[in-house]
Amino acid sequence: MSSELVGQHGIGSVYASIDGAFRTNQVIEKWLASGQGKGIFTAAPTPVKCAGAPLKMTFTTLSRLEESGRREHFDVEYMSPGTDLFSQPWVNEFVKQRFDEQAVKRRHNYRLSAIDPQAKQAEFTFVGPESEFTSHHELREAEFRREGLPTVITDYDFIHVVPPMSAHDFIKNSALIAQDGPFRGEWLDVDIYTMQHNRYPDVFGIGDVIGAPINKTAASVKAQAPVVEENLLAVMQGKLPPARHTGYTSCPMITGIGKAMLVEFGYEDNFAFMPSFPFIDPKDESWVTWVMKDRMLQPAYYAVLEGQA
Ligand SMILES: Cc1cc2nc3c(=O)[nH]c(=O)nc-3n(C[C@H](O)[C@H](O)[C@H](O)COP(=O)(O)OP(=O)(O)OC[C@H]3O[C@@H](n4cnc5c(N)ncnc54)[C@H](O)[C@@H]3O)c2cc1C
Repeated sequence: MSSELVGQHGIGSVYASIDGAFRTNQVIEKWLASGQGKGIFTAAPTPVKCAGAPLKMTFTTLSRLEESGRREHFDVEYMSPGTDLFSQPWVNEFVKQRFDEQAVKRRHNYRLSAIDPQAKQAEFTFVGPESEFTSHHELREAEFRREGLPTVITDYDFIHVVPPMSAHDFIKNSALIAQDGPFRGEWLDVDIYTMQHNRYPDVFGIGDVIGAPINKTAASVKAQAPVVEENLLAVMQGKLPPARHTGYTSCPMITGIGKAMLVEFGYEDNFAFMPSFPFIDPKDESWVTWVMKDRMLQPAYYAVLEGQA
């Protein structure tokens, strides 16, 4: 699918660009104004930038549908490529339950594989939970061959598209790419704790490009930077890398317009919570966290970029 389609034919994607996000909002407004119809929210079969963003899109749109007073005239479906909706187990269960309460039809193990913009139809490939594929790379190869994977075609009035993601081509086409395991052919092959390349010890990785089970957030980049710096200096002096990244990642999970949960977690203990503020419970939805997300995070991210935080 071309990202130029975002904003047309009921297609939205918060991931395409800032302009694409703006056009996505316009498409949602048009759908709302029509007073009825079916909205499909998708997720990608790969790790994505801000794993919570596809869920936040669903929750904010649900708020707007409820606000319209015509919620019962709208069908909302969430098509998940796997059995889980989020990597942090408590949040995963919370979102599943909340979707059920808000009459979102969850369909699991479906991945978006084609779209017909004129007909407003989407094709989903069913990948059973018993799938033998160990990586997105293998699955994608099978999908291209169209081998034994059942598909369904469904109509929509609005669809939120979350594209599959991977490292940039110049990494994928280099020896630095992961050669096996779940990140094979898609992400940079680093030790997720030391950030050192698994095969080229003088190479380090940071940010979304690395193959890691969680972490594609700016909050992770901020936590990884000092680890990379310390380990790089040590390796240059012939020492072993002393610093370790905890996997810290942060997702201000918007659960509706005006409320959010500050979900912070890391690699240890099955992605256990790592709260930064004693006065914010990661399991609580609050207006304070919403205000933090809505008003305070952008200046905070800019301060990080400028080395001031
Ligand atoms: C919708 C959305 C919501 C998000 N929400 C949050 C949030 O609430 N909290 C949070 O912490 N994080 C959030 N993130 C994630 C955050 O934006 C990323 O984790 C962060 O930007 C990663 O930084 P990076 O430098 O690793 O990668 P990027 O920011 O992607 O930077 C990579 C850069 O490389 C450039 N590039 C690509 N190819 C080439 C080339 N060949 N030559 C030169 N340059 C090239 C790209 O243009 C890009 O500027 C969100 C992301 C999205 C998309």
